Amino acid sequence: MLSVRGVTKKYGKLIANDDISFEVNPGEISVLLGPNGAGKSTIIKCIAGLLKFKGKIFINGNENKSLLAKRDLGYIPEMPVPYDMLTVWEHMEFIARAYSLENWKERAEDLLKRFELDDKKKKLGNELSKGMQQKISICCGMLPEPKVILLDEPMVGLDPFAIKELKKLVVEKRKEGCAILISTHMIDSVAEFWDTTNIMVASGIAARRTRKGIEGSGENLEDLFFQIVNDAKKENGGEE
Ligand code: ADP
Repeated sequence: MLSVRGVTKKYGKLIANDDISFEVNPGEISVLLGPNGAGKSTIIKCIAGLLKFKGKIFINGNENKSLLAKRDLGYIPEMPVPYDMLTVWEHMEFIARAYSLENWKERAEDLLKRFELDDKKKKLGNELSKGMQQKISICCGMLPEPKVILLDEPMVGLDPFAIKELKKLVVEKRKEGCAILISTHMIDSVAEFWDTTNIMVASGIAARRTRKGIEGSGENLEDLFFQIVNDAKKENGGEE
């Protein structure tokens, strides 16, 4: 379970996250929606332990910067950063060693196959296309079998086959009981499988919905998103 409690993050004077709180339960796919600049990547980076912030974040009850929390957390960043001088297979080995994984090779093979990297095992990080970098980033993030998974704009740069595979993988992980948080500005990309959503506008959460709630009220997520963002823009005098 992921629990974000009262997180505020400033870059100098700019408030990028203003008192953000939400939870993602095991077996739930939660989507962080919002226009560019709303603060989605910032909160994801705070959860991943990459930024200092005010407030508390717990991963399965452990503070996010603890070793126990990190063991349970998988983070697939918006910008993949493979190691230039490691091959695709060495990335898998590196993660396996960093997490002291046992019996990981079959899983690594399977992940590389799913994302069509199995014939590129000997390619170096700096020889990979943007899409391949994104795929190795997904494989690295998933190899330790994290219980809480963060995906920041995961479909950007992927080909349709990889998008299909990633969606399948995310749904499998939900079935295994993982808590999954996906940040995106592309509503279509998550329409088939989201369970809950927090809509971010101008550094805060402007609305929360569950799929059941929306289906019950006859609302449409995309219409709702535009309405919320436009209302917030009007309140802020035309600015995001
Ligand atoms: P989103 O992911 O929703 O597009 P971000 O979290 O990337 O939004 O950005 C939120 C706000 O914080 C934006 O105004 C952005 O310009 C600002 N911002 C993001 N990263 C930095 C940084 N490293 N330094 C200063 N400002 C930043």
